Amino acid sequence: MTLQERDKKHLWHPLTQHKLHPNHLAITKAKGALLFDDQGKEYIDGIASWYTCMYGHCNEYITAKVSEQMQQLDHVVFAGFTHEPAIKLSEALMQILPKNQEKIFFSDNGSTSVDIAIKMALQYHFNNGEKRGKIIALEDGFHGDTFGAMSVSGLSVYNGPFEDFFIDVARIQVPTEENFTAVKKQFVELIRTHKVAAFIYEPLVQGAAAMKMFKAELLDELLAIAKEHNVLCIADEVMTGFGKTGKDFASMYLTNQPDIICLSKSLTAGLVPMAITSCTEKVYNAFLSDDIGKGFFHGHTYSANPIACTAALAGIELLQTQEIQDCIERITKAHADFDAKIKQHPKVKETRQLGVIYALDLNIEMDRYGDLRYKLFNFFMENGVCLRPLGNTIYILAPYVITDEQLQKVYRIIEESLGII
Ligand SMILES: *Cc1c(COP(=O)(O)O)cnc(C)c1O
Repeated sequence: MTLQERDKKHLWHPLTQHKLHPNHLAITKAKGALLFDDQGKEYIDGIASWYTCMYGHCNEYITAKVSEQMQQLDHVVFAGFTHEPAIKLSEALMQILPKNQEKIFFSDNGSTSVDIAIKMALQYHFNNGEKRGKIIALEDGFHGDTFGAMSVSGLSVYNGPFEDFFIDVARIQVPTEENFTAVKKQFVELIRTHKVAAFIYEPLVQGAAAMKMFKAELLDELLAIAKEHNVLCIADEVMTGFGKTGKDFASMYLTNQPDIICLSKSLTAGLVPMAITSCTEKVYNAFLSDDIGKGFFHGHTYSANPIACTAALAGIELLQTQEIQDCIERITKAHADFDAKIKQHPKVKETRQLGVIYALDLNIEMDRYGDLRYKLFNFFMENGVCLRPLGNTIYILAPYVITDEQLQKVYRIIEESLGII
């Protein structure tokens, strides 16, 4: 039996209707920006496996560090114990995170980092003697699939069975020049009339909403209002973190810095899962007390796993090298050149870019998961390029180490795909 046939026997894949989509391509190897299937065919990983392996698959620097760590200390409970990989990672993060961040709390994935951020915000107010239960979030935001993260995400057609169990969330539109007066008014009104604990947002780029981008100045105004009213600002940088926007974190384009930041995905460079929720001294101090109950009683078994911490540390070291910074500059420029050309195409409605994140909307109305998406996806894969269109949006978010040649191929195949739609 082939891997694909054996897969069908016992495996249940994420985000998949198995009746409609029973087949899953078996990948046996990955290196740099390339994936290889069980037939030996290669694919350029144009989305860095959901923006995780930004320094390239099986990066030798990172795998060497991780192998070494595996021989030394595999795992130890992080409640009551500590270890050097976690300490070094915290120190490295303090060098690159927005300056107001002081403490880091570990978990396992982007969704848990968001759930933790929400719990931190709710308990922050609770510990300060105030019961605030409402969270403000952006429409079309995506923050993950656990209950808390799902609650603050934009309403999805797939949320039906769970909606009655969501936490209390108010959604505002993503701010634009056109709607800003109304959005700002609604934001102020919500804070005035409700007990708002926190405002959560993906700074500047909403990943799952097909790389929707919005202006830093507008978000900054909302953050200033939130801060005036002690509404904690939660920046979900799970997608935007670690250089993708052209700065280490998207929040660095803003004047008002978040109280809490969520990190995952490329945090561990695609090797192993881990997430971090960082916060300011102000947030942390609200949990310090002689009363044990004011502590943050949340903990995952694999918190601060030394191997994951080592992968994260090695990733941050690479991010800071001239080599990777040059890659970011090179890709940013290549995207801009491609954009100048492709945006004239009659099948292209709109394009947008921030750093190495590039997206183009097709001039075609369609359901988000309509047939065209599969037609395009299949065309890309047949041509050796792994891209996953979101609705009528094609986006590129490739590993920083993608070569010029590979990048040009991605552009060429996208251009050719416009001919089949
Ligand atoms: C992917 C993502 C999440 C969820 O992360 P998981 O590791 O898939 O749980 C949360 N927020 C943003 C912005 C994401 O892109």
